[in-house]
Amino acid sequence: TEQTLVLIKPDGVARGLVGEVLTRIERKGLKIKALELKNVSETLAGEHYAEHAERPFFGSLIEFITSGPVVAAVLEGPRAIAAFRQIAGGTDPVEKAVPGSIRGDFALETQYNLVHGSDSPESAKREIALWFPEHPA
Ligand code: ATP
Repeated sequence: TEQTLVLIKPDGVARGLVGEVLTRIERKGLKIKALELKNVSETLAGEHYAEHAERPFFGSLIEFITSGPVVAAVLEGPRAIAAFRQIAGGTDPVEKAVPGSIRGDFALETQYNLVHGSDSPESAKREIALWFPEHPA
């Protein structure tokens, strides 16, 4: 079994899609191990997206992710990392995410793509420690 860190970004919370996203997570069979509504500091946002620090969209991404509360969750299950990325859909909600995925069904723009999911076991470990410092490793 595996754990992954998932965020429902400020657009998802503001649009009232928290229940919809959690329903899809639960229907897939992933188990919710931790769940919290959080205000995101610039420090936390910068650490979370550190790998994108040099990208042209970094400033706008940080502004967006700190613009309102997010829902952070730790999910667990067999192949949880890939399983969540499958139900989320590709990063670009129109060109990459297929209909039936969260982004494919509910998002239009790459920045406002509703959810984040860790992309590897190393990222999951790092991100879970960042968002849930008290969570057992
Ligand atoms: P996430 O890390 O949020 O799960 P991802 O792994 O699908 O998304 P990344 O390439 O890691 O995508 O990009 C991180 C986030 O940065 C994206 O989810 C999106 O919100 C934003 N982003 C990525 N590319 C762009 C872009 N070209 N313009 C604006 N925002 C972008």
